Amino acid sequence: NKKPVRVAVTGAAGQIGYALLFRIASGEMLGKDQPVILQLLEIPDEKAQNALKGVIMELEDCAFPLLAGIEAHSDPMTAFKDTDYALLVGARPRGPGMERADLLAANAQIFTAQGKALNAVASRDVKVLVVGNPANTNAHIAMKSAPDLPRENFTAMLRLDHNRAASQLAAKGGFKVGDIKHLTVWGNHSPTMYADYRFATVNGESVKDKINDQAWNKDVFLPTVGKRGAAIIAARGLSSAASAANAAIDHMRDWALGSKGEWVTMGVPSNGEYGIPKDIVFGFPVTTENGKYKIVEGLDIDAFSQERIDATLAELQGEQDGVKHLL
Ligand code: NDP
Repeated sequence: NKKPVRVAVTGAAGQIGYALLFRIASGEMLGKDQPVILQLLEIPDEKAQNALKGVIMELEDCAFPLLAGIEAHSDPMTAFKDTDYALLVGARPRGPGMERADLLAANAQIFTAQGKALNAVASRDVKVLVVGNPANTNAHIAMKSAPDLPRENFTAMLRLDHNRAASQLAAKGGFKVGDIKHLTVWGNHSPTMYADYRFATVNGESVKDKINDQAWNKDVFLPTVGKRGAAIIAARGLSSAASAANAAIDHMRDWALGSKGEWVTMGVPSNGEYGIPKDIVFGFPVTTENGKYKIVEGLDIDAFSQERIDATLAELQGEQDGVKHLL
């Protein structure tokens, strides 16, 4: 019988939280033999705290055998106490008339506070996944605010873009989505991200050769993946939540339990790989083993790919320069 691990989730009463918590509690993230204690954070606002109470009642009513405890918090200093995993989902959405700089500043404040709290009270091995947007920059801010924790413990979610890309490729090529290997997404979790299937294979054969359509790549595939979030808002009247929660589960599961040699995409602080400046949190292909990830190195970057990588990097540098004075 394994000892329970502590999983903190912020924005726990939000849409993504509602699609996420039940799956964590049922063992889909950390394994069907791993008990979990949920440490849930919501803003002190009465409405949010009440909504959180309702979610907790539903979690209790599922009688999940692996759910060893549930806590409700309004302060990150208690929510992150001894936590082994932290899924930072809550973030400030863009309000009416809010400029980009205001949005960055509002989130910088949240993620500075949360980084400091993780630094002070979390497990020294805490694995942090930032989902709340702008996710890469928020992860960078939290990392910079937690100087006593290893910087590689801070990651941002690019997995939804990765999964979206896999599903589009499967539909185009008539592949089974689970057969697609060695796919990746470079850069920022934003429409500038670069989904790259040049190295992808299906049953050992090149996906690029099978599709063999650069115009489709440029004019259909990349825009479809990049604008998928907006397409879901247009269709559903609400932003994607279940697929975002699913990607968060995939990201954490693969990080914790290993990708068995497969590539997955994670937003991680660069050490200078592929010319990305150190500490920029960037989507890279990684493999994972024993709770650690490793960036796949030595891939050939052609001119088209370099252009795309430069564009998404420029956007991220703009965001991270915009918050530098706040760190
Ligand atoms: P959601 O649960 O739908 O989204 C939460 C965050 O995830 C948003 O920043 C959202 O970005 C981001 N996100 C990342 N990827 C995706 C994706 N593919 N699809 C959709 N969203 C994505 O938001 P809710 O408003 O329902 O819930 C947020 C909760 O967080 C609220 O309960 C609120 O009280 C709480 N909150 C907590 C804060 C804190 O911890 N201090 C601060 C502010 C809010 P985007 O906005 O770009 O859609």
